[in-house]
Amino acid sequence: MRKTKIICTLGPASDSMEKIEALLAAGANIFRLNMSHAPHEWVRDVVKRIRAAARAKNVNCGILLDTQGPAIRTGNLSAKLNLKPGDIFEFTVRGARSEEEYSVDVNYDGLVNDIHVGDTVLVDNGVLHMKVLEKDQNRVRCEVLTEGSLGSKRHINLPGVKVNLPPLTEKDHEDIRLGVEVGVDFVALSFCREAADILELKRVLQSLGSKARTVAKIEDQNAVKFIKDIVIASDSIMIARGDLGIECRMEELPIIQRRIIKKCIQIGRPVIVATHMLESMIENPVPTRAEITDVANAVFEEADAVMLSGETATGKYPAACVEVLDRVARRIALSGGAGYAAEAIVDTQRKKTVLAAVKLANSLENSSIVVFTRHGEMADTVARFRPTRSTIFAFAPSEEVVRHLSLNWCTHALRLDFHTDPEETFAEAEKELVKRGLVSSGEKLIVLRELFEGEEHFESIQIRTVP
Ligand code: PEP
Repeated sequence: MRKTKIICTLGPASDSMEKIEALLAAGANIFRLNMSHAPHEWVRDVVKRIRAAARAKNVNCGILLDTQGPAIRTGNLSAKLNLKPGDIFEFTVRGARSEEEYSVDVNYDGLVNDIHVGDTVLVDNGVLHMKVLEKDQNRVRCEVLTEGSLGSKRHINLPGVKVNLPPLTEKDHEDIRLGVEVGVDFVALSFCREAADILELKRVLQSLGSKARTVAKIEDQNAVKFIKDIVIASDSIMIARGDLGIECRMEELPIIQRRIIKKCIQIGRPVIVATHMLESMIENPVPTRAEITDVANAVFEEADAVMLSGETATGKYPAACVEVLDRVARRIALSGGAGYAAEAIVDTQRKKTVLAAVKLANSLENSSIVVFTRHGEMADTVARFRPTRSTIFAFAPSEEVVRHLSLNWCTHALRLDFHTDPEETFAEAEKELVKRGLVSSGEKLIVLRELFEGEEHFESIQIRTVP
């Protein structure tokens, strides 16, 4: 089984039933709906298609709703502005007039408070660089540093500036309500800046009665600064390299990626490496060798998942992209991993027991780990210790929990009703694994479960052999 999970962003190139089935057949584990571009009617329809395709193929598949978040954008321009180094450019707020030849209004009035003289402003995915010269209550006057053209509704990045926008906009609230209504499994918070932002998302989800797992998108310097608290607060993390690579110095990006993956494995949260993994395949049927090496690096570092954006949403070869990730992930995993799990924190009895089970599995040839998990937590704990040679088979009584586990490293989750007699539950689980051809005769199964004796409960480890 492939250890690294694959997330595909859906869009016009991939949202038909046929294309979704092709992505599942190629190995997609989670579909991402990018709310920066997704109309609500489309979300309702596509979620039905995803669920139907997963049922038809009898595979486990999660859905991730990715909020737009508090993005700062330029307003409308009647024509593109062609800018060159040395030009003076003004950003205005509250519809203020500018005397300059080049200016544009922005959608965030607080810009003039958050930004300071000397700060850098990056526009349109970092293509245009400007430096702040002065500001007043309604204007930020900048010098243009690089050549480029500026159009309407372009994204503005402010490296190192603490932006005081609320973590969720009104649009995000509406999108989250829709996500809860259609039953998405994960909700990602864009531009998460501190733990309080993700706690706010959790509060909103809870108030809507949703158990969707949260994904904190790390995409600016502030988030990197508070990474430990964010990892602790969130159910999982996305290294959103598109914006992060603009907000931070580009040569820092690989180091930040490694630090975040290490921190997530240490604390025990699934981590996704996102963006530009196979960017050239938006147009071309084969990736560049550098892209293969980037994917291989994420696999080697034992990230839980790698994510495709434009490659599957609008690209020419969506299923081929998934096939490439699948091939690279399988091959690289055979050459070993970075071993960051050696630093995983073991501070509870449960973690100690699970670590003992993982060590046992690591010492046995031809073994798998079978974990019975009501809420997914025990299965999360197994994955965090990154077993070196065993697949993790996780059985849970709820479809929702099974789908949550679609993100976890090396975890194959299956739904199963739990009986009061644990032996009966195990017998059914084993039968299912044999029926699906997932285990073979003579294979050792390290079985982990929680047993109850009156009020007491404790974790148990057993070794079984497949007959
Ligand atoms: C990113 O910036 O890498 C990312 C995944 O976010 P978005 O695509 O929403 O900008």
